Amino acid sequence: MTYPKLFTPLDLGPLVLGNRLVMGAMHTGLEEVPDGATRMAAFYGARARAGVGLIVTGGFAPNREGAAIEGLGIFGSSEQAEEHRVITNAVHREGGAILLQILHAGGYARHALAVAPSAQPTPLCPVIPRALDEDDIERTIEDHVGCARLAKHAGYDGVEFIGSGGYLIDAFLAPRTNRRQDRWGGGFENRSRFGLEIVRRTSRALGTGAVVSFRLSLADLVVDGSSWEETVAMARALKDAGAHMISSTFGWHEARVPTIAAIVPSAGFTWITRRLREAVDLPVVASNRINSPELAEAVLARGDADLVALARPFLADPDFVLKAREGRADDINTCIACNQACLDSVFRQEVVSCLVNPFACHETLVRLFPTSSPRKVAVVGAGPGGLACAVTAAQRGHEITLFEGGDAIGGQFRLAAHVPGKEEYAETLRYFRRRLQQTGVRVRLNETPDVADLVGFAHVVVATGTRPRVPSLRGVDHAMVVSYIDVLSGRRQAGDKVAIIGAGGVGFDVAEFLTDPGHHDLESFQCEWGIDATLTRRGGLNLQAAPAHASRQVVLLQRKTGKIGKDLARTTGWIRRAALVRRGVQMLAGVDYQYIDDLGVHVLVGGEPRLIDANTVVLCAGQEARRELFDDLRKHDIAATLIGGAESASGLDAQRAIAQGTRLALQL
Ligand code: NAP
Ligand code: SF4
Repeated sequence: MTYPKLFTPLDLGPLVLGNRLVMGAMHTGLEEVPDGATRMAAFYGARARAGVGLIVTGGFAPNREGAAIEGLGIFGSSEQAEEHRVITNAVHREGGAILLQILHAGGYARHALAVAPSAQPTPLCPVIPRALDEDDIERTIEDHVGCARLAKHAGYDGVEFIGSGGYLIDAFLAPRTNRRQDRWGGGFENRSRFGLEIVRRTSRALGTGAVVSFRLSLADLVVDGSSWEETVAMARALKDAGAHMISSTFGWHEARVPTIAAIVPSAGFTWITRRLREAVDLPVVASNRINSPELAEAVLARGDADLVALARPFLADPDFVLKAREGRADDINTCIACNQACLDSVFRQEVVSCLVNPFACHETLVRLFPTSSPRKVAVVGAGPGGLACAVTAAQRGHEITLFEGGDAIGGQFRLAAHVPGKEEYAETLRYFRRRLQQTGVRVRLNETPDVADLVGFAHVVVATGTRPRVPSLRGVDHAMVVSYIDVLSGRRQAGDKVAIIGAGGVGFDVAEFLTDPGHHDLESFQCEWGIDATLTRRGGLNLQAAPAHASRQVVLLQRKTGKIGKDLARTTGWIRRAALVRRGVQMLAGVDYQYIDDLGVHVLVGGEPRLIDANTVVLCAGQEARRELFDDLRKHDIAATLIGGAESASGLDAQRAIAQGTRLALQL
């Protein structure tokens, strides 16, 4: 398949882009590490080599106050500009173009220097920001312009200002955070002055040779955000101020509406970008939940946007554009919107990577090179860890046989694709199937080799995974007790009253599966999460969100006394909890399991007996490692390595398994 719209060049004035694909800004953590410039050069250079039309870096602060983390990620000196030359040179050498994103965190800065239009706390930060005075505002504007000048000096093709997300420029724009009574607050003309002044002075300072892009929030999704009329007025004023393009985003960081999680329908916000495109004579960029060339092409073909920004998909596959251009979309390693190795890492202040591509942002540290001594290697178990190990080792030149006891590859990852909102996990398995073919791995399904079968191999990788833990509880063998595997695979149907034992990631998956309303269209999503499809309310928020209804009664149980779901991932856990609460799922912590009988699960809560009325009990009580094969191999002195859940079942997930499998393959 070809993508004619995607591969049509675009004249931006100072730059002619070879195609309509933008690598959108992403914080990678490399902005803050000592060898960050070299690592960013490798990271961005690889994406430029594959032909992406335009790259935008992660955000850099124009001054100390604007740094999200104190003292880090600031772009404010000519020494730093010199350091960044390695990045711009790497991108230009590959024929690419790159903008520096300038991000003043405003009230989202997590340190004592935080500033904002008004001294108001934000829900996400412990510090109350200081209100900028007139002199501060003037200085801050000049700091933005100075940062842009330095960017040009460093060889960037221009800059992008982040005027969205609730950061400083956006905080000036929205009445929610701008309570000023002077010429920088009050009516729209005053609230927009700060951002427009930055763009106007920057355009003048950079001249005609550099691009100025502006990231505009087209729906803040918070109370007292900007109105649609103000957003359009801002976009038009930005054009007059000298901006070359407007890149759309949705939702402030404190918004309680998912905007990039897997639950968001594909390209679920581009209808708003189209509304803007119809109202403004400037190229607009669509974004959010666009992860395939087909989707990107469709967005352009519908006239929703002039360009399409993808961010996480460029972590998942550096060669996304090349593969699209060559009509090899099936070869793309698809971003599954899990956020696990990328956005969740940002919140842990770690350098990001990607669940499906552990090389991302680690290009200089994790290198794939051909082996000088090809060996015959068996990999036992075709879950994510075994698959990653098999294809990487085969790519290096080893002769790989992959054994799998089931009738298909994927292991328990296959089940995840059955969970509503995680359907795209199937794309990872499609990718691995392609890689197995391309790298010549010999795949032997429905085979569980024993020691005798593995004697001829130079090395055995044991990736046999886990088995579900069965708690020792009276009545656990009752006919109504099933494992999560039975439920998610469809082998067993649940009744209308379900108790779930264990509220980890799998317990949540099962609760979502069992209460799924069954419709996943855009309208249902907007209705469930309170997005105003008419764009007539401030912030694009419709506070009369319809409560979701579940067809069965579900109770999630845990022994710990803390809040249920507390240990779920930072960027998606709140979404999963909110969805289940809305569907009426009950969550009961601090239970002491007593026994199961025909009536349900008998527990003590705070020492008081209680019956959890149920006709199905689903066990989601974690897993135990399956390592018997490894122990047998060791007894027979056969060289073997354990990876993934078979090595340690506790806290296992696909991210760890794939990273471990890949790393082992690089050492074989
Ligand atoms: P898990 O996170 O370890 O949760 C299992 C829960 O079962 C524990 O939190 C524990 O809570 C309970 N439990 C353990 N032993 C028990 C026993 N003997 N009797 C009764 N309850 C017991 O395991 P999981 O939910 O199976 O998840 C496995 C891994 O996959 C985790 O690393 C998880 O993060 C990952 N995963 C991730 C996602 C995702 O969307 N990112 C989805 C699914 C799984 P209490 O003892 O407090 O009750
Ligand atoms: Fe996409 Fe998950 Fe990789 Fe992030 S970690 S880029 S969300 S696949």
